[in-house]
Amino acid sequence: MIQNSSFTVIGMHCASCANIIKRKLEKTTGVTSIDVNYATEQAQVAFDPTQTTLDQLNSHITPLGYSLGSPSPEDPKHKKFTELAAMRKKTSFVMPIATLVFISMIWELLTPRISLLPNFPLTMDVFNRLSFILATPVMFWIGLPFIKAFARFIRHRVANMDTLVGIGTLTAYLYSAILLLFPEIQALLNAPEGLYFDVTIVVIGFITLGKFLEARSKLKTGEAIEKLLGLQAKNALVVRNNQEVEIPIDQVVVGDIVLVKPGQKIPIDGLILDGTSSIDESMISGEPIPVDKGPHDTVIGATINKQGSLKVQATKIGGDTMLSQIIKMVEAAQGSKAPIERIADQVSAIFVPAVLILAVLALILWGLTGSFSLGLISFVGILVIACPCAMGLATPTAVIVGVGKAASLGILIKNAESLERFASINFVVMDKTGTLTKGEPEVTEITPISSLDKTKVLQLLASLEKNSEHPLALAVVTAANDDHIALLPVSNFSIIEGKGVRGEIAGTKYWAGNLKLLADLGLSFDHDQIQAMTSQGKTPVVLASEGGILAYVAIADTLKPDAVETVRALHALGLQVAMLTGDHHQTAEYIGKLAGIDRILAEVLPADKTTEITKLQSEGFKVAMVGDGINDAPALSAADVGVAMGTGTDVAIESAGITLLGGHISKLPKAVKLAKATMSVIKQNLFWAFFYNIVGIPIAAGILYPFTGILLSPAIAGAAMAFSSVSVVANSLRLKTMNHKL
Ligand code: ADP
Ligand code: MG
Repeated sequence: MIQNSSFTVIGMHCASCANIIKRKLEKTTGVTSIDVNYATEQAQVAFDPTQTTLDQLNSHITPLGYSLGSPSPEDPKHKKFTELAAMRKKTSFVMPIATLVFISMIWELLTPRISLLPNFPLTMDVFNRLSFILATPVMFWIGLPFIKAFARFIRHRVANMDTLVGIGTLTAYLYSAILLLFPEIQALLNAPEGLYFDVTIVVIGFITLGKFLEARSKLKTGEAIEKLLGLQAKNALVVRNNQEVEIPIDQVVVGDIVLVKPGQKIPIDGLILDGTSSIDESMISGEPIPVDKGPHDTVIGATINKQGSLKVQATKIGGDTMLSQIIKMVEAAQGSKAPIERIADQVSAIFVPAVLILAVLALILWGLTGSFSLGLISFVGILVIACPCAMGLATPTAVIVGVGKAASLGILIKNAESLERFASINFVVMDKTGTLTKGEPEVTEITPISSLDKTKVLQLLASLEKNSEHPLALAVVTAANDDHIALLPVSNFSIIEGKGVRGEIAGTKYWAGNLKLLADLGLSFDHDQIQAMTSQGKTPVVLASEGGILAYVAIADTLKPDAVETVRALHALGLQVAMLTGDHHQTAEYIGKLAGIDRILAEVLPADKTTEITKLQSEGFKVAMVGDGINDAPALSAADVGVAMGTGTDVAIESAGITLLGGHISKLPKAVKLAKATMSVIKQNLFWAFFYNIVGIPIAAGILYPFTGILLSPAIAGAAMAFSSVSVVANSLRLKTMNHKL
């Protein structure tokens, strides 16, 4: 039995750490697959618990400075805050020193060039001694994680970006310390005057600042989940033994009668037994307009009861509530990997060793030309600038913010892959009933063509249809109920997929359905009757017995109010829109025209809906299929991305990559825009992360030096590196505030 667990990972400093853990654990017995996410600090491990345990897994990685912990929602958060506090302390110690040293470096650099600038106030000797005093705590206290990483590299041959920084800064420090303490060695080596304590201070300073800012923004990227967790009610007022008692939410059981007063939060998912109210569901569905609800309506935990008093029967509690499902889904999606991330993973896997080799080569080559100090500067510079950190943050931070932003709008994204695919769709196929239309069809006309009267027609039809769950069936049964018509017992009932239903009433066989059904029965029909209904966008349902057609019934469903605007918005995004339905082609065309749809795919049998999707795909389209997720599951799965309209309290619609809560299709163009924006942020991030290394490394290696005398100072490299990570996270955070563009 393979068990799939997620663990919190402790001790990661950068994307290459995630790689090291993955590669290490992949090879151990009992582990079938593992994914480590640097941004969420989570690992998804599929393993055989009979072959390995958490302790055994940890024994492989603790020597490398990492560990896996059991997931507990409060703990890691708390830990992150303590970590952040420690980082803040270190940053506020090192930054004033680094800033002063940085200014003096620039001062020294500029004095010979700008005559107005007074000479640097300290003599070289005093400055060097002072730097030594300042660099020592910076190296051994603030820089301790880097030294540890260096030590692990020596012991275990694993290197991450901390290793690079550790080797770089320690080299600069030790070299300078030796020359300062033993001037005779300087003479012996014929080494140049300069010492590099400033490099150690500035590099460690900026990198520490960068890490602090990065950690702080990373906490911000995860705010969406916290907001969702915060929505959960703490207590519920329930009726037990005829008494009203307030109990903690985790003591509520399914079936409990929960009382919700005006202005209160509804604590659980349930069914209204008594009372009417308007309910603010914006925190779940993202829709600001309150929804009117009364008896038999479902309510969602965490939404707010605005006016009336409600008596609600609990139907879902704890981990089964919609809110819990949403949280689980968002968490899983935020931790998942986008396909585009593989590029970054592959690069950062070979990056650290490649950079180490490059740095040593630069040292040797410059050394051979007789310039040991140049070699040392480029050695340190290369190690410092070549951090795959920004690369590792590029994708996951954008995914976390994008998925979280979507959730706040009532758009649930299953995983990063769906998000990535959704950004590149160019064709949207929409189911008609319940997606484009309200899905609450009504019987508008009954035309008997036999001796039966309308009431008898409705009685027979409703008796058959009460066994079906099709929206048309529901319309018929509702009409019969409204007229207080008693239904008759039906035997030998069956559903004819995509066509209708049949059954026996009092020994007579009846059929109800569409023209395909009539064709199967070999019955001919009145074209004018059908034409009259379909040309008005109504769906004809024909009641027949073995003797022939008994009646024509017209059923009308109206377009959703936001359908037209949604189709227009999708067009504006350059997408084509089709409608897919089993309904009569003329009915479909009428509705389709109203909504402004490009292509109508009508009279499609349920089994053929998938074929229509694959046909579009073979025309070269990237297709998103939008449906209710229940009837349309196969078509949703066949599409590049399945989009489900989540209307009830179920969010985990398996076949859907994206779920639009509250049944509002107007969220569809928003979801497309958000997906596109997220992908473009990822691409910008990756571009800058790569670009910066591609430009930075050769300059640090001294490629420009022979021609221009420019060599990237390791101090500048440290600042640039810190800046690149911070700017990637900041760029991702932009997604959070892109409201006006949606
Ligand atoms: P869609 O969801 O697009 O309406 P379906 O495959 O569910 O597609 O239904 C296709 C058609 O089959 C309907 O438009 C209707 O004409 C007929 N049909 C299906 N179920 C019933 C039913 N229970 N009663 C009458 N007609 C039905
Ligand atoms: Mg259907």
